[in-house]
Amino acid sequence: MSEKKITVATAWLDGCSGCHMSFLDMDERLVDLAQKLDIVYSPLVDTKVLPEQVDVGILEGSISNDADLHHAQEFRKHCKLLISLGDCAVTGNVPAMRNPFKLEAVLDRAFRETVDLQPQIPTVGLPTLFRQVRPIHGCVEVDVYVPGCPPHADAIFYVLNELIEGRTPDPNLVTRFGA
Ligand code: SF4
Repeated sequence: MSEKKITVATAWLDGCSGCHMSFLDMDERLVDLAQKLDIVYSPLVDTKVLPEQVDVGILEGSISNDADLHHAQEFRKHCKLLISLGDCAVTGNVPAMRNPFKLEAVLDRAFRETVDLQPQIPTVGLPTLFRQVRPIHGCVEVDVYVPGCPPHADAIFYVLNELIEGRTPDPNLVTRFGA
């Protein structure tokens, strides 16, 4: 991977986008990285079609509905190496806090009990929520886990740099859960 640019795709599933904000927090290092990698699909760029073959896929957030699952499966299918980025992706974290409750109770709480104007549960044009939120590896195989909420920009830079240099990153050296 050291001679030619690596291709990178990113997506956020059930997450807050904070992990992607941390990615942007690499600041001026992004300019250096742009010499060594191409972001070919991401909420951060205009391209909205996942290429057939991508070197590195990065997923933020957990798998909470059928659209998340489809996205994760597509990334697994098209990305040679898949990174689970952030605590929501690695453990379920915040989205999984609903897991002890029945789905009906969660929907009632969000759309009826706490709403004054036209309380109703939306049913049209939305992904189907799963009863249980799962981390990425609960549904597809993951190659590299990068914990943190969000992982620090330094940790993301370390991981990408190791991959660019053809090495296997050990994120536990630079980040931890909740970091
Ligand atoms: S790990 Fe933290 S920052 Fe990242 S998506 Fe989850 S809540 Fe947001």
